[in-house]
Amino acid sequence: MDDDSVHITYKSKRFKLCKVEYCGNFTFGLGYCKHHYYKFKRYDNPLYEKDKAEIRFCQVEGCNNIHVAKGYCAKHYSKFKRQQAKMSE
Ligand SMILES: [Zn+2]
Ligand SMILES: [Zn+2]
Repeated sequence: MDDDSVHITYKSKRFKLCKVEYCGNFTFGLGYCKHHYYKFKRYDNPLYEKDKAEIRFCQVEGCNNIHVAKGYCAKHYSKFKRQQAKMSE
């Protein structure tokens, strides 16, 4: 009925989706969702996380190598595997 269509128009006008293609969240400001808006404001790049946050480091104290597996870098991971192999013998 009439009421229904008004309601739908109102809804689709009010709730837009984030500009970031794969995101799918509702907008918060400047066409971005809260999440991406914050990044846009803070880093001037709504996709900031994509480039940066995926880089993790080895959990061994004093080691600054990039994380490979199980919390270790390649060097410490192979050490860890050797230890595991010894323990299971
Ligand atoms: Zn978003
Ligand atoms: Zn390491």
